[in-house]
Amino acid sequence: MEIAIVSGKGGTGKSSISAAFATAGGRVVIADCDVDAANLYLIFNPVDEEETVYVSGHNAVINYDLCTNCGLCTDYCRFDAISAGDDGIVTISGISCDGCFLCSRVCPEKAIEMIPNDKSRMYSGSFRNGRMVYGKLAPGEENSGKLVNMVREKAKETARENNIGTIILDGPPGIGCPAISTITGADKVVIVTEPTISGLSDLKRMAEVTGKFSLQALAIINKYDLNTEISGQIEEWCSQNGIRVIGKLPFDSRITEAMIQSKSITEYNPQLDISNKLKEIWQQILNQNQ
Ligand code: SF4
Ligand code: SF4
Repeated sequence: MEIAIVSGKGGTGKSSISAAFATAGGRVVIADCDVDAANLYLIFNPVDEEETVYVSGHNAVINYDLCTNCGLCTDYCRFDAISAGDDGIVTISGISCDGCFLCSRVCPEKAIEMIPNDKSRMYSGSFRNGRMVYGKLAPGEENSGKLVNMVREKAKETARENNIGTIILDGPPGIGCPAISTITGADKVVIVTEPTISGLSDLKRMAEVTGKFSLQALAIINKYDLNTEISGQIEEWCSQNGIRVIGKLPFDSRITEAMIQSKSITEYNPQLDISNKLKEIWQQILNQNQ
């Protein structure tokens, strides 16, 4: 069973909640799908057993030993990545190049080479409560949604091989391509929100996305006591829109203290009220029928 923990925006406490769930009970596979800014490995210090290169795309590069500066490629590039200077020398902007390969195919001199963007990585291994898979997209590299898919596939394979029934997908913030790749086909989607106007508006956007994919979403209001009025509005909106609020968590600065010590709050102090609430919520999520 894949359980995706997402939020319409960053800073809602989604990753600390995912970390608490991952250490709340039985063995799990935890997959950090926030490939642009993976952070769970900092808490769990996993033992990486496998490192896989992720080719996020290609960049066109001219071999000037072969190029005759005929300019043909400049006419074909739909991304305006190729230009000729006043001196007639043709250059390619690595930033604008989309890696479509067209110029390399039309060049009569075969002077354009397509270089793979291969700095991104996927890691898989073990952590203290099961197995862990995560991706790291290199700065400037793209196609994070595809890397998320790769992380999910690996997480599923790992779960099968290790006989683990629960996969937690810690999603990226926002509702872009990587977030959609995280929730598509997941068994359960939990949206973590916070009691602010932007929190409510991002919850609505995320709920719209889950609705489009016919996924039944659950919601957690984190730090609900920081603004009980907006928390009430969130609950009302959720009840009117068929989203079950599965838990409300109070603000607790010890969550940050736990993170600093590379621990989830349930590991840091399992007796705390907040730890017990998180364990209860996790049980409810596991028991919730879709
Ligand atoms: S088409 Fe080939 S030979 Fe002509 S300018 Fe482009 S790279 Fe150079
Ligand atoms: S690979 Fe495509 S996008 Fe990149 S320079 Fe060539 S034609 Fe333009």
